Amino acid sequence: MSEAQNSSGGCEHLSPRASEANYTGQMLEVWPKLYLGGAAAVARPDRLKAADISAVLTVDSEEPSFKLGAEIEDLWSFFVPALDKPETDLLSHLDRCVSFITQAHANDRTVLVHCHAGLSRSVAVVIAFLMKTDELTFEEAYEYLQTIKPKAKMNEGFEWQLKLYEAMGNEVDTSSAIYKQYRLQKVTEKYPELQNLPQELFAVDPTTISQGLTHQALYRCRKCRRSLFRSSSILGHEEGNGPDDFVHKRMKPHSVFHYSCTSYFIEPVQWMESTLLGVMVGQLLCPKCSAKLGSFSWYGEQCSCGRRITPAFQIHKNRVDEMKVLPVLGSQSRTIG
Ligand SMILES: [Zn+2]
Ligand SMILES: [Zn+2]
Repeated sequence: MSEAQNSSGGCEHLSPRASEANYTGQMLEVWPKLYLGGAAAVARPDRLKAADISAVLTVDSEEPSFKLGAEIEDLWSFFVPALDKPETDLLSHLDRCVSFITQAHANDRTVLVHCHAGLSRSVAVVIAFLMKTDELTFEEAYEYLQTIKPKAKMNEGFEWQLKLYEAMGNEVDTSSAIYKQYRLQKVTEKYPELQNLPQELFAVDPTTISQGLTHQALYRCRKCRRSLFRSSSILGHEEGNGPDDFVHKRMKPHSVFHYSCTSYFIEPVQWMESTLLGVMVGQLLCPKCSAKLGSFSWYGEQCSCGRRITPAFQIHKNRVDEMKVLPVLGSQSRTIG
């Protein structure tokens, strides 16, 4: 029956025989002019030459020790230092990896992406490229690659990072809540051994002049009016399931009617730095009047809606006032006086 044949096979151009034919040494052509391989692939410059490869992307703990450039004229190379561990931050490198491949292709170069075994790190990079280039979802791209290379199996940390990549529209948007939350989680994994918190983790203090963010709503201390953060610092989350998310009865919020979020979960702002360093859990106080604004925990905290946020920097909504920004009306803007 033709139906049975269809269900067992998958796409015909991805049949095992076709992929066998694409094996060149330890490399596998997974896309036109794009090879995937392990360390053995780069150990044989003659085979790279035979496959017409003139661009090599290495994602490994160390760069290939031999000088490929000496063997292959005008070689393009790009190195991403990365261990094959779930906690490795690959996400922050994906845009540069994808653009390296894209630019090489635009220059009619054939690319090899390789790591040590050719199963996890290089697979993750190639999948990011496929997602972006062919507008595939993570699942589609992974399934496609595993059809050609059944042993391909990235670690679960990279899977999570590629799902975040997809959620950001196949591009790393460093200003997005998704990326900010990701960066915070990465830092938390290293906490509290960290001696210093990376500066880029902190949002600029809104009392600093000229940041070009003046179109964003500003939140001020209700008591002393000190500017605390802008709307771009709020890390939104899906509302939890209310009381069902609270394990212990006594932890349930008092409100009987609904369980909306009573706090803003935000990225750390510069004025918090001295409070956060080396401390796992504590209060967040207004830097001017010391009014209690909320709390933080590198272990994470549960929002009143039930959702758990890790790490958590929360400001109670009733301790701050939101200053909405008025739309600019141009010549019609009103004059006071
Ligand atoms: Zn919430
Ligand atoms: Zn205050």
